[in-house]
Amino acid sequence: MRSCIFCKIVNNEIPSEAIFNDELVRVIKDINPKAPVHWLVVTKKHIPSIKESTKSEEILFGHIISVARDIAKKEKLLGYKLVFNVGKEGGQVIDHLHLHVLGGWSQTTNQVNV
Ligand code: 5GP
Ligand code: ZN
Repeated sequence: MRSCIFCKIVNNEIPSEAIFNDELVRVIKDINPKAPVHWLVVTKKHIPSIKESTKSEEILFGHIISVARDIAKKEKLLGYKLVFNVGKEGGQVIDHLHLHVLGGWSQTTNQVNV
């Protein structure tokens, strides 16, 4: 999937600011953050979205959320939002599975749409 920007990022063909990497995912800082903290947990495998995934990906989904939780804890986020945009109608722009991790607001400014 050489034309997919997130495939290029996880294959080190284009640079990104990575904060975590393992065999299943890479966590990068969003290039256009919609919150004071905005990371993307990007799968190494090209899956267009949750819609196109299957039950065989259940372990991967658990891992994505588990990684987000652990990094949020390490970075001392008090609270955060985890968002999957699914399909064009769901606001998804990049057709490669990723989880948005959004946080870092004060108590009064915690509303955001991604
Ligand atoms: P989506 O709307 O597909 O759920 O979210 C895609 C996200 O990827 C957007 O928040 C956008 O700012 C981010 N993004 C797009 N291109 C790049 C890029 O080249 N590098 C990084 N780090 N983020 C990107
Ligand atoms: Zn891809």
